[in-house]
Amino acid sequence: MMKKYMKNSIYFLTLIIFLVIGCNCSFNNKIAPTVDNNLPTNDRYSDSDTTKLPLSNEEWKKILPADVYAIAREKGTERAFTGKYYEHKEVGTYYCAACGFALFNSNGKFDSNCGWPSFFEPITKGSILYAPDNSYGMKRTEVMCGRCKSHLGHVFDDGPPPTGLRYCINSVILDFSAAKKAEKNFTK
Ligand SMILES: [Zn+2]
Repeated sequence: MMKKYMKNSIYFLTLIIFLVIGCNCSFNNKIAPTVDNNLPTNDRYSDSDTTKLPLSNEEWKKILPADVYAIAREKGTERAFTGKYYEHKEVGTYYCAACGFALFNSNGKFDSNCGWPSFFEPITKGSILYAPDNSYGMKRTEVMCGRCKSHLGHVFDDGPPPTGLRYCINSVILDFSAAKKAEKNFTK
């Protein structure tokens, strides 16, 4: 009886190990970041397609999780010092969480102590769109995703050299992908 139980346990353990290994492998495939089972798949999300996405807010609402929608389409702001990428130091690339467009590199990130992830430069000039924002009695410059025009945050002119700029970005609208290990070793 005991022997049979042991045998079953070993089968069970083996099954668990296979399941865990299987899950780890699937992390290598890049998928839209926030999984919400009530939402259809965000088929607009792509880290290679750079076609502009002039979707209406109604269309975005169907495919974006509520927290991403609130920042991206309603120009919301996450609470300071709460975002998951605020003190994030890993080497890699930050993509738009709405559409997958590459926005910032980790080597353009710096510690600003302002409460939000801060960058002194975007990945390319075309990564970001700019618009004047005079809301709340302030004169600011809004920054948006160069592909889907989702609101990302604001840019200020109190950043470090070489640009002197501080792109102050909500973590919620960022999706981070770590650089491959080989690339990391290459840059050492
Ligand atoms: Zn985007």
